[in-house]
Amino acid sequence: MPEHRQQELVDRFDRRVEYLRLSVTDRCDFRCVYCMAEDMQFVPKPQVLSLEELSQVAEAFVNLGVRKIRLTGGEPLIRHNIMQLVEQLGALPDLDELVITTNGSQLQRLATPLREAGVGRINISLDSLQPRRFRQLTRTGHLAQVIAGIDAACAAGFERIRLNAVILLGRNDDETLDLVEFARSRQVDLAFIEEMPLGRIEEHDRALSLASSDWLQEQIEQRYPLRPLGDPEGTAGPARMFAMEDSVSRIGFISPHSNNFCHLCNRVRVTAEGRLLLCLGNEHSADLRQVLRGADASMTTLEEAIVAAMDLKPERHWFDLEDEPQILRFMNATGG
Ligand code: SAM
Ligand code: SF4
Repeated sequence: MPEHRQQELVDRFDRRVEYLRLSVTDRCDFRCVYCMAEDMQFVPKPQVLSLEELSQVAEAFVNLGVRKIRLTGGEPLIRHNIMQLVEQLGALPDLDELVITTNGSQLQRLATPLREAGVGRINISLDSLQPRRFRQLTRTGHLAQVIAGIDAACAAGFERIRLNAVILLGRNDDETLDLVEFARSRQVDLAFIEEMPLGRIEEHDRALSLASSDWLQEQIEQRYPLRPLGDPEGTAGPARMFAMEDSVSRIGFISPHSNNFCHLCNRVRVTAEGRLLLCLGNEHSADLRQVLRGADASMTTLEEAIVAAMDLKPERHWFDLEDEPQILRFMNATGG
């Protein structure tokens, strides 16, 4: 066995990194109000990793023990020739799980090819079931296109589909139960994500718009009692999942404010420009693009850079809505 396969990614707090979230682009066809400013500056294309470079990064992480990769962005499915990368990653023998997070706009076309290339599970964002409101929240999105994408994903036979919803007070907080009913009708899971203070937005005051997981859970429990499931996928992920008595759909809550999950963290992110981010809520990072494009670039130097970066992983994030956001990069630049 080659020597590098014995290497593991372990940080200073004894957390083993087994999960990579790889952002394939910071661009998006939507401009969701909590994720982006209306007028965004995107990374100039030469600074974005090529598909070949993204594939090398993924391979290096898999060599170092990563078993799960999530493709994200920006909107991963608008990256030109994205299926080429998906097929390459889907064929990596040591990768147990290839998953993707998408806004659903391209799924009518791509759901079946993604499934055939080995994507097992898919997360699709959906914040409103009302066309006008969906448009306001995404600024550019069409609800009908996304619903058709969700239906295409349901037909494509993924192992699991999870809808992700961000609820903002005064915007879509009256749709919590409608979203639950929709998830039940499609027999898919639904996770509610508390809004995180990533990037400075003018559009709304995050401190006033936060809908806490506890509050959402109370509303849902009035109609459907929820039974805690622990960690069903064994991924120690931040989503706390619950079952309903009479449905295969599960309800999840991702609560970076009300439930700190940093001690369980098993993941790192790589941005579209090749910045290895050790924590969603901190700026600690290493520049992998420099290594990939350096004079002595090789799989070995790439793996060495990744191993060395593990010492930078901070203990936890400190999201605090009373203060200005400490993190000035937006979610689309982070790899959500
Ligand atoms: N474009 C894809 C999508 O929307 O699913 C993938 C990238 S997006 C950044 C990933 C997830 O992050 C989405 O579910 C989105 O709702 C969530 N997200 C974006 N900005 C956020 C924020 N400030 N706080 C919490 N979640 C956010
Ligand atoms: Fe695009 Fe996803 Fe951000 Fe919405 S949440 S703007 S779909 S990257």
